[in-house]
Amino acid sequence: MTRVVSVANQKGGVGKTTTTVNVAASLAQRGHTVLVIDLDPQGNASTALGIDHHEGAKSVYEVLSGELSLSDIARPCPDVEGLWGAPATIDLAGAEIELVSQVAREYRLSRAVEAYVADFERAHSRPLDFILMDCPPSLGLLTLNGLVAARELLLPIQCEYYALEGLAQLLRTVEMVKTHLNPKLEVSAILLTMYDGRTRLASQVVDEVRTHFGTRVLNTVIPRAVRVSEAPSFGQTIMTYDGSSPGALTYREASDEFAAIVPLGQVTT
Ligand code: ADP
Ligand code: MG
Repeated sequence: MTRVVSVANQKGGVGKTTTTVNVAASLAQRGHTVLVIDLDPQGNASTALGIDHHEGAKSVYEVLSGELSLSDIARPCPDVEGLWGAPATIDLAGAEIELVSQVAREYRLSRAVEAYVADFERAHSRPLDFILMDCPPSLGLLTLNGLVAARELLLPIQCEYYALEGLAQLLRTVEMVKTHLNPKLEVSAILLTMYDGRTRLASQVVDEVRTHFGTRVLNTVIPRAVRVSEAPSFGQTIMTYDGSSPGALTYREASDEFAAIVPLGQVTT
């Protein structure tokens, strides 16, 4: 079964994109097949995966508007075997508004994802193991499409003072989605990002998040590391840019932990 995961947090700059591309690359390097869907009009995940997303390129925009399928737009990541990316262009910013008047607007991506999973298996004679969706920093229709298409939410939390602010609103949105649109959605993992060991504040945030969310918080904490923030400017993830750096090592550990999770509701007896 394909694990379909949204990486979401309506706060900007908490590490959603960095987490999406690095966890995806790590999973692929472990031999899994992975598709990243870039749902942010900024296209940062597409950049990090080395996938063309100039204005006017075929993107998730055409998928949400129903003109193309995900198979039409997904491209292999040039540096990592087994990893594909569905790019976002700036056109996607318009989709948020255009979708408002459309039929089944919350389900557009969900249907495209189902079709892709079937297409992939037919084309590659093996199942797709993971889909990771990089959500934009808002709770608008793009994120909503991501939450409706997913079974799981991977929630990155930055180790800083305002980390928990806004989380209640996100969790209410998740509950709303579960009640009305997608009962299968679960917060399966929380990842603490950009940890700065020199500050007491960072360790306080870690304690607070662990107290609040318990075992759903991954044991691995991602440190703040310059190499991680440099990698995208070379069109790469940290996994290929500097695979033995602390950022790469911890993202590999975090994704191994994530891969080992058996999502609720998918336990077979
Ligand atoms: P979001 O997608 O939630 O807006 P990003 O993943 O784009 O967040 O991260 C925000 C900024 O922080 C980016 O410039 C990114 O390169 C940087 N960043 C993310 N994780 C780390 C890290 N572990 N160490 C250093 N910089 C990081
Ligand atoms: Mg982002």
